[in-house]
Amino acid sequence: MSESNDCLFCKIIAGEVPSSKVYEDDAVYAFNDINPKAKVHVLVVPKQHYANVAEFAAADPAGLAHLIEVAQRIADDAYHGAYRLVFNTGLDAGQTVFHVHAHVMTGEKLDE
Ligand code: IMP
Repeated sequence: MSESNDCLFCKIIAGEVPSSKVYEDDAVYAFNDINPKAKVHVLVVPKQHYANVAEFAAADPAGLAHLIEVAQRIADDAYHGAYRLVFNTGLDAGQTVFHVHAHVMTGEKLDE
């Protein structure tokens, strides 16, 4: 499944909805969260559409490892490699966009 109609993050990846891009390669797109919960709050998403991290891991484990490498590099640049990586999964866990995305929160010392 490469793209899903009416998926906000597919539209961002396609450039149909504006975003503040942080990083892009063939597999991954990273952009600033519109409602940041940390000094640096970047969303890292695979260009292929998967609803959640479990689907992504099952279909493309190397892709998930690559996404985490990208998250690490963003945090290396922003705050000496310290970061929080969150995948909200499911409505009751606060997932609002059903295109898997890693929240990378960094840029400062985070609350515990
Ligand atoms: P979730 O709640 O884990 O699904 O995360 C979705 C995230 O997407 C939230 O942190 C939102 O602030 C963020 N978000 C929603 N729309 C946009 C947008 O258009 N640009 C950037 N971030 C967005």
